[in-house]
Amino acid sequence: MLKQIGTTPIRRDHRASCHCGAVILEIHLPDGLPTPHRCDCSFCKRRGAIVAAVPAADLKVIRGKSALLKYSFGQQVAEHFFCGNCGIYTHHRRSTNPQEFGFNVGCLEGVNPYDLGEVPVADGGAWQSP
Ligand SMILES: [Zn+2]
Repeated sequence: MLKQIGTTPIRRDHRASCHCGAVILEIHLPDGLPTPHRCDCSFCKRRGAIVAAVPAADLKVIRGKSALLKYSFGQQVAEHFFCGNCGIYTHHRRSTNPQEFGFNVGCLEGVNPYDLGEVPVADGGAWQSP
């Protein structure tokens, strides 16, 4: 668990937003940020975001639910959400564990994801479809 990224402390309830500000999330991170990673599946390799995951109940869309668009592919388990206005990926329901949401670490308020240095790549090959 990361308690701080760069000079930004991870708050117990940390906000995250898309670029235009239409969508705001509140993510419950009582112990800090779970291990950030990248994924090499056919979708994530194009998206390129650094992600971390929390139990689904710990991520709430507090503004802009109607601005969110959803993309699913393959087995239609994962749901990738992005802002319909600015196009930024905010979070997704994970195909490997639908009880969890992954989210875009770069959307966290005050966080520069490049302060993380090298980020491990998770093997998304098992769900590399369509
Ligand atoms: Zn937006």
